Amino acid sequence: MKAQPAASHFIDGAFVEDTAGAPIEVIYSATGEVIARLHEATPALIDRALAAAARAQAEWAAVRPVDRARILRRAADLIRDRAEELARLEALDTGKPIQETRVADWPSGADALEYFAGLAPTVTGETIPLGRDFIYTLREPLGVCVGIGAWNYPSQIACWKSAPALALGNAMVFKPSEVTPLGALKLAEIYAEAGLPAGLFNVVQGRGAVGATLVTDARVAKVSLTGSVPTGRKVYAAAAEGMRHVTMELGGKSPLIIFDDANLEDAVGAALMANFYSAGQVCSNGTRVFVQKGLKDAFLARVKARAQAIVMGDPLDDATQMGPLVSEPQLDKVMGYIEIAKREGARLVTGGARADLNTGYYVQPTVFADVTDEMTLAREEVFGPVMAVLDFDTEAEAIARANATEFGLAAGVFTADLTRAHRVISQLQAGTCWINAYNLTPVEGPFGGNKTSGVGRENGHAAVQHYTQVKSVYVGMGPVDASF
Ligand code: NDP
Repeated sequence: MKAQPAASHFIDGAFVEDTAGAPIEVIYSATGEVIARLHEATPALIDRALAAAARAQAEWAAVRPVDRARILRRAADLIRDRAEELARLEALDTGKPIQETRVADWPSGADALEYFAGLAPTVTGETIPLGRDFIYTLREPLGVCVGIGAWNYPSQIACWKSAPALALGNAMVFKPSEVTPLGALKLAEIYAEAGLPAGLFNVVQGRGAVGATLVTDARVAKVSLTGSVPTGRKVYAAAAEGMRHVTMELGGKSPLIIFDDANLEDAVGAALMANFYSAGQVCSNGTRVFVQKGLKDAFLARVKARAQAIVMGDPLDDATQMGPLVSEPQLDKVMGYIEIAKREGARLVTGGARADLNTGYYVQPTVFADVTDEMTLAREEVFGPVMAVLDFDTEAEAIARANATEFGLAAGVFTADLTRAHRVISQLQAGTCWINAYNLTPVEGPFGGNKTSGVGRENGHAAVQHYTQVKSVYVGMGPVDASF
């Protein structure tokens, strides 16, 4: 199995290699096989990428938004034309099953390109009358933006960051996670083919140090990171030094609250999707499933039956519903959390071990019941297929316990009582919420977190303010009234 790209980096419109950079092995997590060998970007390459971005952005900002949009739409068409090839590449890069990567990863990226292509030409300023004089405002691009991605949705993240950046007149230097470096390179190739001028979207590979170099460069106006909270703290602090704009999409430990009157099969389906899609490696997952006591036994019985029916196997097999974790370190981390949960007294309902497939970093879909708020499983982000079920009596109790966390990325409520649904949601401290649904993140809706889960929003109209800045222009229409 090979997925070797033409070179490690894409800078100023072309693939670039410099073997002086530290090696990166790309591992197919279903087998442990090396599918590509890349190199980290050297300081000289990072400098080239930033210089190209700065040069190209100055020209791009002067391009009419409808003309920028046409290129993004062409890129979206290319993504859709190559859907199968891209779904396969994403499965190799991440280990996610192809039945997911066909519908979620690149398709959601293409949606972002289409959405921001449509939105950008509608972005206007305002005119503020002052009697004789007036002020008008312009929404201008920020300049060179740095995108840094996590490994769980490499292509979607690259698209979600670059689409609004480019549509609104910025340039981007993107650093994927070194665990999943392939998708962003493919995106760079597609943008070039769609006619994006050289230098506007550059990809440099590397570990955290490459990201850190990008974040502190004087040419950079904005940093958008998708990653963990500890990395977010470091990147936010480094960006603050230069007063750079930031968007931080970080981790979570999100509550999914299921009331007695909820439709059982819908609630079970949502809880399964909220914990086992992408083998549980989704930042907004509802990993604290609060189930009201009257529904608890029925809920656990159905969750157990449906979790045990999940088909694990080769990600490239159409029948596979759940693949391996992304890497061996992630496997070790998740197995460590499962052991801690057992030790701390959570009741194992199903799973709890590596899946016996003789290969790869597979973990069984795992459900723990009788989890309490103090247990590690209820407090820390596992990022694997591990569902924690907690039970509760009253609405007020569920809300208070759901909010008792430093995170605030997402939250969900299942109930037939819509008045209660809105009442509960209005009190939950989370940036992205669902009622009788979970983890649906169409590009039309703003996405992001509160508390330590993040700053700013991706997608929706909200993203416009995170990739533009307001210029306010006072126009004097008469004689200057000077005091001196
Ligand atoms: P990390 O925080 O480890 O890394 C995120 C990215 O930041 C990687 O590209 C990483 O490089 C880079 N990086 C690490 N250190 C620095 C630094 N000092 N300066 C600049 N860049 C740096 O996250 P993971 O890749 O492990 O992804 C999993 C995490 O991402 C989870 O916690 C999850 O919740 C979160 N996430 C959040 C989402 C959201 O939208 N809120 C969506 C998806 C994931 P490298 O990996 O090469 O070291």
